[in-house]
Amino acid sequence: MYQSETEFARTLVNEASTLTCRVQEDVVANADSLTKGDRSPVTLADLTVQAVMGHRLAERYPGDAFLAEEESSSLDASPSMAEKVGALVRSVAPDLDDAAIAAALDRGKHPGGSEGRHWVLDPVDGTKGFLRGQQYAIALALVDGGQVVVGALGCPNLPAPGERGNGAGWIFHATRSAGAWATPVAGGEAVPSIVDSINDSSQAVVCESVEAAHAAHSVQAGIARRLGITAAPYRIDSQCKYAVLARGEASIYLRLPRDESYREKVWDHAAGAIVIEEAGGRVSDLDGNPLDFSKGRKLATGRGIIATNGLLHDQVLQACRAELAGASTA
Ligand code: AMP
Ligand code: MG
Repeated sequence: MYQSETEFARTLVNEASTLTCRVQEDVVANADSLTKGDRSPVTLADLTVQAVMGHRLAERYPGDAFLAEEESSSLDASPSMAEKVGALVRSVAPDLDDAAIAAALDRGKHPGGSEGRHWVLDPVDGTKGFLRGQQYAIALALVDGGQVVVGALGCPNLPAPGERGNGAGWIFHATRSAGAWATPVAGGEAVPSIVDSINDSSQAVVCESVEAAHAAHSVQAGIARRLGITAAPYRIDSQCKYAVLARGEASIYLRLPRDESYREKVWDHAAGAIVIEEAGGRVSDLDGNPLDFSKGRKLATGRGIIATNGLLHDQVLQACRAELAGASTA
């Protein structure tokens, strides 16, 4: 099931990775971004990828809905950005005029939910990492009946396994019940992605956000201490955290909310979560409940994210509960 959707998703993410690589250096050099209403940044890369994918998905799967982060209103606010997006989109999809680009972007306004099929896209996840010239991800997933069934996660700057810093890029893909795989952006054989088998928590590496505003680093340090972990956290932007877990370079991903009321966005986790589960790991919210992708554009029913190699999951949940209980009585 879903093999042709998986192959199509992988191809789209590969095309998008090539596009974002073409422009990252320029965008970084010119600090070329807009600030959206929620104060988060958006760039030429985010808008171009969403427009191209929205268009290609509508052509290939006209009956499927599309749920994605960006909107054409960002283009209305900046004619110079609209011009650059138009040129970059037309370099790969020459027939799209400005109106078609806006329509392709705004197909992404779907509210989500548990009915039918919808594709979930974060066109550039970790835009802040992208703007620093570092890691980011292109994250596409298919949700069917509220369940993530396909994920394709492009990590265009990810280095070779075991290395850190920028490299030539990998694309991870997963299909429900068919495993997780990784292929170099430049092409080649897909290799299986498998989480590590560490069951002594003191030997684990924890990965977490670079951005302190996106996760409670001090609470996460407390959880790591309770688990006996001495290695420094592996800080990396975007769903690349799921990728490094899926290939065994870290055993735990912690994302504890800074703000109790924050609910995670589905596009920040759908592709990464299926890659981890199919690589043999486990993903839940802080209470140990599975992530529920059927509740709309947010993971409305749970707080935070804990992903592990599976073996360590219950220990990490326990350490998390103890740390949060300690914090509330301190
Ligand atoms: P990361 O690169 O892991 O730090 O995550 C990037 C994502 O963090 C973005 O795509 C945003 O949707 C998301 N984000 C923005 N604000 C917050 C917040 N306060 N808490 C958690 N995630 C956030
Ligand atoms: Mg994101």
